[in-house]
Amino acid sequence: MTFAAYERKRANIMATQIPLPPKVGMVSLGCPKALVDSERILTKLRADGYDMSPDYAGADVVLVNTCGFLDSAKEESLEAIGEAMAENGRVIVTGCMGNEADAIRARFPDVLAVTGAHQYEDVVGAVHEAAPPARGEFVDLVPDAGLKLTPRHYSYLKISEGCNHRCSFCIIPSLRGDLVSRRPDAILREAEKLVAAGTRELLVISQDTSAYGVDIKHQPREWHGREVRAHMTDLARELGTLGAWVRLHYVYPYPHVDKVIPLMAEGLITPYLDIPFQHAAPSVLKRMKRPANEAKVLNRLKGWREICPDITVRSTFVVGFPGESEEDFQYLLDWLDEAQLDRVGGFRFEPVEGASANDLDGAVPEEVKEERYQRLMEKTAAISAAKLAAKVGRTLPVIIDELGEADEDGSIGATGRSQADAPEIDGNVFLRDVQAVSGGLLQGDIVNVVIEDADEHDLYGVVIT
Ligand code: SF4
Repeated sequence: MTFAAYERKRANIMATQIPLPPKVGMVSLGCPKALVDSERILTKLRADGYDMSPDYAGADVVLVNTCGFLDSAKEESLEAIGEAMAENGRVIVTGCMGNEADAIRARFPDVLAVTGAHQYEDVVGAVHEAAPPARGEFVDLVPDAGLKLTPRHYSYLKISEGCNHRCSFCIIPSLRGDLVSRRPDAILREAEKLVAAGTRELLVISQDTSAYGVDIKHQPREWHGREVRAHMTDLARELGTLGAWVRLHYVYPYPHVDKVIPLMAEGLITPYLDIPFQHAAPSVLKRMKRPANEAKVLNRLKGWREICPDITVRSTFVVGFPGESEEDFQYLLDWLDEAQLDRVGGFRFEPVEGASANDLDGAVPEEVKEERYQRLMEKTAAISAAKLAAKVGRTLPVIIDELGEADEDGSIGATGRSQADAPEIDGNVFLRDVQAVSGGLLQGDIVNVVIEDADEHDLYGVVIT
């Protein structure tokens, strides 16, 4: 370019009025899957030239991504909509509760639009209408990896939508439909970008990760010159080559899950499986419409631990499901004694509007649910404490989530997680004296830590340099 042409271009640029981009506020409720939806919507809006507002006051329009899984979650969603209406007044509702537009409009007739889960185009269209985008080559920028609501060092990777199961307590299939899997090459491309943008841990999520690819008949796609099937094992193997921790969530205990355990033993993927068993008593599992193969599962857990002794198995259980007798509940406690699961989350059964479990007889009184919940938590906390105590003295890789402030004596702590801990739902590793680490520590660093102490849920240690 000649100097004169350069000057002309510069003059044109200087004369260009770059319009201020409209700002969008976002309130994101619900599970990690909803969080990924929020990230997608924000990524699209950012690509369309919008800015984000950290508060209600600065937003031209506020998006509320709702959760409709439990009645309590619905109430929380309605409260969030009410707050956004009171604080800003220009509100668009999306997410799982968006499927109940009438209920939302009855309470908040002035919401600008209501769209359902995964209706990305609709929600983005509603934002365009409420606050038209300021187009221009100088504002239409989007980071390569998209916008994220999680810290940079870990990212949720959604591999499919919907679910082919029909668990009687769950309305997700009616909200989200049957399983729809993403192409493996699209997932791997997204994962590669995330890792290039600083992600050190990929959290693979879906409604049923082990069913991935069933709907598209495991059709292979080309990825970096080789064929990769749309199958959990193939996908896990490929993700394992990216250099990040790869954590599998929401795995249903199908027999083919056995095939990912050797990948964990090889160190290719993180030795962690999140399997929501929900119960162990055969009669309760039957009423839940879940497979009753709890005895086989115990054998498989044993086999998995033989192949990969460090595997962490996390699960969730529901107590007080209709018809759950004291014997059923005791069966679950005894099963847990045998299964020795590392991490357990518990829920008291809550009827969800539209779930077929609501028609079952044998409702369990609230006080009995509460008492069983406390017993479940006591049992699983004791198992967890013993498992964590056995880690004292070992050296474990730990990912740094947060660095603390210096104390009066100059010592600084940090909070991290071992490979046995998923963010938000599992325990932490609390580190002391990280000021002694040569070169310093940053969020997302993975360091070796000597474990010095343990309690029911967390570990305590010091970085070795
Ligand atoms: S597996 Fe069962 S609980 Fe999970 S999403 Fe599917 S129907 Fe709901």
